[in-house]
Amino acid sequence: MNVASTIARARRHVRLARQNDCTVGLVPTMGALHAGHASLIETARENCVFLAVSIFVNPSQFGPNEDYENYPRPMEKDLELCRQLDVDMVFAPSANEMYPEKNLTWIQVEQLCENLCGASRPTHFRGVTTVCAKLFNIIQPDYAFFGQKDAQQSILIRKMVKDLNMPLEIVVCPTIREKDGLAISSRNKYLTPDQRKDAPLLYQSLQKAQQLIQSGQKDPDKIRREMEAVLKKSAQINIEYLEIVNPDTLEPLEILTGPALIAIAARLGQARLIDNIITNKP
Ligand code: AMP
Repeated sequence: MNVASTIARARRHVRLARQNDCTVGLVPTMGALHAGHASLIETARENCVFLAVSIFVNPSQFGPNEDYENYPRPMEKDLELCRQLDVDMVFAPSANEMYPEKNLTWIQVEQLCENLCGASRPTHFRGVTTVCAKLFNIIQPDYAFFGQKDAQQSILIRKMVKDLNMPLEIVVCPTIREKDGLAISSRNKYLTPDQRKDAPLLYQSLQKAQQLIQSGQKDPDKIRREMEAVLKKSAQINIEYLEIVNPDTLEPLEILTGPALIAIAARLGQARLIDNIITNKP
């Protein structure tokens, strides 16, 4: 496995792979790799001949009071997992390599970046889309793999790729969960044991919504109220949003007649957790 810390080296490895007519896959990550990342890497491994994983804690997607400095960076452990998963190249640049001077060019997917997580993190998604565009320009993958767990992120990136005619396909992989349903996240380590016990309520509230919809409930307000009742079983959970939206436009649904993205963000102590499901998939 090659480890490239500069853009020039990463490009050289990809160029060599391309000479052999390889299909190139990219899994963008911020490191602190867990089973969720591993599932993306495994799917990518099955579908691409040359597999690159990027590990980059992207400063431009963190707000001023967020956890950029404290975000976990267990690089040796991450590299070991990538080796085990048969990754061909890890691209792990420094912040200075990616942003050598003040960045003046931003990619912003309008409207889609404004609600859900965008409401409380106003500059987050332009940081995400901009760094993904940079990574796509550097690696030039045929496929890039993202997790359903960050539903709004993958919807925005798909739209960016479509609007800007970027020559790659976005593959969205299912959310990987702990046995009790909690979506695996690098930020779960901020939970105290007591908070960790209550954290599966997020997924339980999504399952409640799923059951209601399956039994014919079409009123988003009624579904939301039942979900809130599940979440209120814990006094520690502070709901940031609980939305039932169109999975393409992210606009709130007034009645459920087709597919719906049900998305939650909540704070549990220091941790901000997100989760979602898509119901009535065609
Ligand atoms: P991150 O390192 O948090 O930026 O995540 C990198 C990629 O892994 C993103 O596409 C995430 O959506 C995806 N991911 C993170 N957690 C999970 C999970 N539990 N299941 C599936 N994908 C995940």
